[in-house]
Amino acid sequence: MNLRELPVRTRLTVWYTAVLSLGLIAFSLFVWLTLRHLLYTDLQTALENQARGFEEYLHIEERGHAPNLIHEMDEFSKSMPQEHVLTVFDASGRVLYNNGRRRWKHKHELTTTRSIALERGPVRAELAVSDQSAAHAVSLLGWLLALAVPVFVMVAAGGGYWLSGKALAPVDRITERARTIGVRNLSARLEVPATRDELQRLTETWNGMLARLEAAVTRISRFTADASHELRTPVAIIRLAAENALRKPRPEAEYRAALEKIQRESESMTQLIEDLLFLARADAEEDVPTLELVELRTLVDNVCSDLAPLSAAKEIRLECALPPASIRVAGRAADLRRMLVILLDNAIKYTPAGGAIRVALEHENDRVTLRVEDSGIGIPEEARSRVFQRFFRVDSSRSKDSGGFGLGLAIAQAIIERHNASIELQSKPAGGCVFQVSLPLAA
Ligand code: ADP
Repeated sequence: MNLRELPVRTRLTVWYTAVLSLGLIAFSLFVWLTLRHLLYTDLQTALENQARGFEEYLHIEERGHAPNLIHEMDEFSKSMPQEHVLTVFDASGRVLYNNGRRRWKHKHELTTTRSIALERGPVRAELAVSDQSAAHAVSLLGWLLALAVPVFVMVAAGGGYWLSGKALAPVDRITERARTIGVRNLSARLEVPATRDELQRLTETWNGMLARLEAAVTRISRFTADASHELRTPVAIIRLAAENALRKPRPEAEYRAALEKIQRESESMTQLIEDLLFLARADAEEDVPTLELVELRTLVDNVCSDLAPLSAAKEIRLECALPPASIRVAGRAADLRRMLVILLDNAIKYTPAGGAIRVALEHENDRVTLRVEDSGIGIPEEARSRVFQRFFRVDSSRSKDSGGFGLGLAIAQAIIERHNASIELQSKPAGGCVFQVSLPLAA
């Protein structure tokens, strides 16, 4: 079975238990080996010290002319620890002395031998001790560790499994809740655990994303509803005009009037559909469109000239203040032109006869400012924040007559966003509007 396919909880426990077991086994081995080494070296050292002491003792006794060395060996043997066994051999290997204490098998002993050159001839002393108590301690510790390690690992693994289950429980709850959220209940939110950890951040992030999704979906739904609503009116007018004209035979002039009405409505409908299409594409466009170098001064000049007849017809003075040098920005000329036409067209639409419009282009440091200022009816304070919304009209009955659907400024805003620019509506105490666009100069 692949470990990656297991639930996180099991995986965590398996890893944790494996690491813990390895660590404990290594530690136990280390402790056990160290203890064994210490105990055995201690025994061996004691034995060797005893043998050295025995040699010195024999030399001293010999120098003091002790009559019976065997007797002295026995004396020394009495001062030795109970468990030490002393055997002394002569040069031919015959046993000279033995304290007769050996009560264990040969394989359970530690020994040391020492050749001692006495004046009466060399002897060999052999000292032995049982390793039984050391072996017992070592084996006891071994058993203890061998039993304790698995028990400890099992308890720790159980605890780890329980803990990770507890820690991951909120993830299950979040998953369950997230499953129930769909387009129909996008306003629902995940329950945020007050744990100040990754899970809290995760749910907060999810909730933020849900809020953004909800806003986007609401915007799209409203846009679709508004678009259908706006399209219904011209279609109804066209149908009524045609039905009316067809109901009975009529003089040619009446047919003509009906057809003209149909034509007008179709044109306005075409405009609306084009605007909708532009906004829909702008929403769907993921990349910034390929930018070209646009000479803004010429572009503004052209738009002013194009719309001059329109303002002249309404007896509005149109002033265009342009800098002497050329100004280049990176963007799409067609879009920038469209944005300026929208602003200027609005200014003309909402400025009564005898008014004035001023278009000014300036640049400072690395930014260009384009201002469209009019002396028209202005926009009331409470509507200022909403004029860039789709289908918003300050006074729907009034602007409908001039053909506006409330999409112009939304389109201008969409264009601005694609150009890393900003647009703002500034207040003008004397009445009228000032729209100010700020664009980055091309490098
Ligand atoms: P419309 O196509 O209706 O003009 P816009 O999105 O261009 O739509 O503008 C939204 C609303 O903002 C307009 O209906 C109008 O009431 C108001 N508005 C825009 N520009 C001006 C202006 N220069 N002066 C006064 N009101 C304006």
